[in-house]
Amino acid sequence: MTATVPVTGLPVGGSGERFEILDPTTGGVVADYPLATAADVDAAVARSKAAFRSWSRTTPAERSELLLGLAGEMRSREAELATVESAQTGKPAKLATGFDVPGTIDNTSFFAGAARVLEGAATGEYSADHTSSIRREPIGVVGSIAPWNYPLQMAAWKILPAVAAGNTIVLKPAEITPLTAVLMAECATAAGFPADVIQVLAGTGADAGQTLVSHPDVAMVSFTGSTVVGRGVMAACSARAARVHLELGGKAPFVVFADADLEAAVHGAVAGSLINTGQDCTAATRAYVHVSLLEEFVAGVADLYGSIVLGSPDDPATDLGPLSSARHRDKVAGMVAAAGSRGARIIAPGALPDGELAGGFWHRPTLITDVAQGDPIVQDEVFGPVLTVIGFDTVDEGLDLANDSPYGLAASAWTTNVHTALRASAELRAGTVWLNDHIPIWSEMPHGGYGASGFGKDMSVYSLQEYTQIKHVAMDRTGIGRKSWHRTVFGVPD
Ligand code: NAD
Repeated sequence: MTATVPVTGLPVGGSGERFEILDPTTGGVVADYPLATAADVDAAVARSKAAFRSWSRTTPAERSELLLGLAGEMRSREAELATVESAQTGKPAKLATGFDVPGTIDNTSFFAGAARVLEGAATGEYSADHTSSIRREPIGVVGSIAPWNYPLQMAAWKILPAVAAGNTIVLKPAEITPLTAVLMAECATAAGFPADVIQVLAGTGADAGQTLVSHPDVAMVSFTGSTVVGRGVMAACSARAARVHLELGGKAPFVVFADADLEAAVHGAVAGSLINTGQDCTAATRAYVHVSLLEEFVAGVADLYGSIVLGSPDDPATDLGPLSSARHRDKVAGMVAAAGSRGARIIAPGALPDGELAGGFWHRPTLITDVAQGDPIVQDEVFGPVLTVIGFDTVDEGLDLANDSPYGLAASAWTTNVHTALRASAELRAGTVWLNDHIPIWSEMPHGGYGASGFGKDMSVYSLQEYTQIKHVAMDRTGIGRKSWHRTVFGVPD
């Protein structure tokens, strides 16, 4: 696919070094831009700090109006946003138009409303002489880092709660997919957001990213990406005790109990494992299936995997796009091959695209059976269209296998038994647990991890609260100069 994408809106980096954005479906160049440097980050943070003074004093109603305007601007450019999102990621148009873009617009509308209901918790008298109030205040300059899998949605999940709560933000999208974050910033400008409240800088993680998360004037860092990089980000924040919000990797289990609706589970496993070519931190990656259903489950998923069409994003028949880069494709293929060399059975039906798409970063849907729970393909994040399947006998065993992972972002349980469903919802250790479904998200509900998947919530009012800090204001109600408690410090006690 040859896409026309806007490059004029990209912030101009000072390095002079240009970065090529590749079309993952062909390997061809989509656009190129000058990388932002550490000096660009310094300048952006200084502008952000200056903008915070007046932005933090705007009323919730003013911020809400601007966010509604932003939603409207994005709605008016919906088709463009979807085309650019597909061009830089290779994702099918039906995913970009059915999920990424409408989801982002809905998120924007949600935060326009949520901005107006943010409030302190209480006002009251907790001593005979004082009245207390709780203020919920913005934190300051937020430095955010986003990954490449859902570039627009990840940018929105960072930008919206930050500015709705009265913070200013400098966002660094992934260097291979900066275009829709830049378009979103353009929409914000068109909607009337003041200059420098929302800034997007496209640069590498090692240079611009590291500078941003280490910057002394960045009061809060919000990071979405891999667990390994997230740990480094947390270390950079700990050096100055800055607030940090981490949305990290995932390895979601998909547990099919003996009484499950098998057809629903098979369809759920295919959609849940292949969404966004498996490059979804909540994607179903580890299926645990009761032994009585194991054979049928594997046959059903393999059958549907064989019907999946890999192809160009703008072909309505396309189900699955490529992986985001050649490097990532090689990593996924290497992990699958290594599992095969250790004795796992690899089922990868279907055909790779050819012709003008032969140079793309493709990977077939891949089901892996006959594999041990301790195998790296079961334990490590693959982030591709790969599902492992392991059998179990008892409810306890199914739940234990699901929880046997350092990650805890999402999980699903498939059962028609109310008691098993209740146990699964309570005992699965993950920030989201679906019952008889896997993947759907809503702006009102939080998304975030347990364990090595990080901490902090995106979307929902829980996310908005995390971009605020709590202040206790204690007010003397007596007007007395010589207060009785002073005598515990100086003078003679009463
Ligand atoms: P990554 O960690 O390699 O990169 C994420 C971002 O961090 C990129 O913008 C990158 O440039 C930047 N970065 C890299 N090194 C940095 C450094 N030293 N300092 C500051 N920034 C740095 O992750 P990725 O490969 O882009 O994305 C895939 C990962 O993201 C997967 O692990 C996936 O599970 C995770 N993810 C998590 C969520 C979630 O909500 N928990 C959502 C999407 C993706």
